[in-house]
Amino acid sequence: MSSFEYNNNELYCEGVSLKQIAEEVGTPYYVYSAKEFRTQYQHFYNAFNKIDRIVCFAVKACGNIGILSLLSSEGCGADIVSGGELHRALSAGMDHSKIVFAGVGKTREEIIFAIKSDILMFNVESRQEIDLLNECALELNKRARIAIRVNPNVDAKTHPYISTGLKENKFGIPVKTAKKDYIYANSLDGIDVVCIHCHIGSQLIDVSPFRDAAEILVKLIKELRKERINIKYLDLGGGLGITYNDEASPSHSDYAAALCDVLQGEDMTLIFEPGRNIAGNAGALITKVLYTKETEDKNFKIVDAAMNDLARPSLYDSYHEVKAVDETSETITADIVGPICESSDFLAKDRKMPDVDIEGLYALMSAGAYGMTMASNYNSRPRVPEILVDGDQYYVIRRREIYNDLTGPEMVPAYLRKK
Ligand SMILES: *Cc1c(COP(=O)(O)O)cnc(C)c1O
Repeated sequence: MSSFEYNNNELYCEGVSLKQIAEEVGTPYYVYSAKEFRTQYQHFYNAFNKIDRIVCFAVKACGNIGILSLLSSEGCGADIVSGGELHRALSAGMDHSKIVFAGVGKTREEIIFAIKSDILMFNVESRQEIDLLNECALELNKRARIAIRVNPNVDAKTHPYISTGLKENKFGIPVKTAKKDYIYANSLDGIDVVCIHCHIGSQLIDVSPFRDAAEILVKLIKELRKERINIKYLDLGGGLGITYNDEASPSHSDYAAALCDVLQGEDMTLIFEPGRNIAGNAGALITKVLYTKETEDKNFKIVDAAMNDLARPSLYDSYHEVKAVDETSETITADIVGPICESSDFLAKDRKMPDVDIEGLYALMSAGAYGMTMASNYNSRPRVPEILVDGDQYYVIRRREIYNDLTGPEMVPAYLRKK
């Protein structure tokens, strides 16, 4: 059963009415179900109960420290891609020994911060990064644990913007040459080679590319062990898809079954980095209809949320199910658009949807991943609050920004200041 259900014709998140939250905190707002986060994490984790594993939630999908604390208390770790995300994970009390750090462009400052924080490992993406890591670790009198991110050249068959495992992508080191880099890294005093990493893309709805990648990586692990490089971990990245519309997304047990075959008998700890799969269906964006506009060709619902709040539709033309917070049987084919001065500012396009009138509320579903974390202040729109629902209670886990949050960090040079 979903965590978003109608109750007396009104949409609830768990035990809390979304209309009530709107009355108390205003619109638009993001709302997350604690139950959904917990269940998704546990299902993911438990699907692999035959193997040692760590699940590291991809912070970039949904980075609020309230959410990270909730996941951490379930035993979840973090997959980070910046110093800012490391700060988030540590602020949320996440276990440093369950943090993995990916990304093609880590800076020296970020690397030092992460070594000092004693994270589990760096997922390294180039020879130059290996050298910089070694240098930083030696300076700090430490050793940096690493995985080399290999690019297995498998087609994830997903949107090209979120496909990362093909040889033309900027990510990782080609699997063909990775062995050389492993041998090199292993010879350095500041480096402990412990893992192989890959991440082939996002929103995969077929498990076979995962399986193909795992096969390629297991082969490489065997070769490396022959070179006496003792790989203890295999990090298979994130990317498991979810249902936004009518995609038949794989279950956790389908995913586990596809991988377990390949991994059977291998002595290692698995690492997973799911983001969307844990967070996607745990969140929704609630928005109010400001105006309705009917032209000869098209109907528009102009709402108070916009592409700066939820960028995915304008960025990837992605689909978010539209629900009316007050259930109705009236339908209309319309675009849901925001107030931003861009034609790409839409949240739904040419969609048959419930017909909500002015002042009514829409819920854009499956907005828990890459929603708030991609939000910006474009058009000087204060970012919206985030609400966590747990049972019949709700908690504001990020307040609505105020105008001073927009201008606060800015400065007028002294010579231009009005006397
Ligand atoms: C983005 C990313 C993830 C999470 O991807 P999802 O599709 O949200 O699961 C995991 N690992 C790395 C390295 C990433 O860049």
